Amino acid sequence: MGLIKPLLYTLRELFKRPITVKYPYEKRDISPRVRNIHTLDRDTCQHCGICARMCPNNVLKMVDGYPTADYRYCSFCGICLDACPTGSIQMIHTQEHNIVRAYQKDLYMELLSPDGTIYNPDAPHSEDNETGGVL
Ligand code: SF4
Ligand code: SF4
Repeated sequence: MGLIKPLLYTLRELFKRPITVKYPYEKRDISPRVRNIHTLDRDTCQHCGICARMCPNNVLKMVDGYPTADYRYCSFCGICLDACPTGSIQMIHTQEHNIVRAYQKDLYMELLSPDGTIYNPDAPHSEDNETGGVL
């Protein structure tokens, strides 16, 4: 009797629809509430560097007066957004699941413009994919 119950349970589970998907061949939709990439409004950015100083993971570095991100360490916590006095740095929603690159250096990226496009098509690694190597 002790064996039958778990056996029945296993048989029942065998014919249920799996709750997992075969990632990366299949992907689930990411909730529209998720904000998973930074943007920067260069017109309003004051070059103060507060966002970079407040980041707990040291993700943001000031380059030519603008924050850039090292996505190896970002936890997408949003503290940099709260710290920015002008609201220049924001995060937007994408359906991109993985920010993955062959080389770690390729995860060091310029921030997107507020409409999600890249500022500088000639930036390093912009040839990596159709979104300019950002995602
Ligand atoms: S979201 Fe958090 S971890 Fe990522 S850059 Fe901003 S403060 Fe740093
Ligand atoms: S994004 Fe905001 S906090 Fe960061 S440098 Fe620009 S104005 Fe300062």
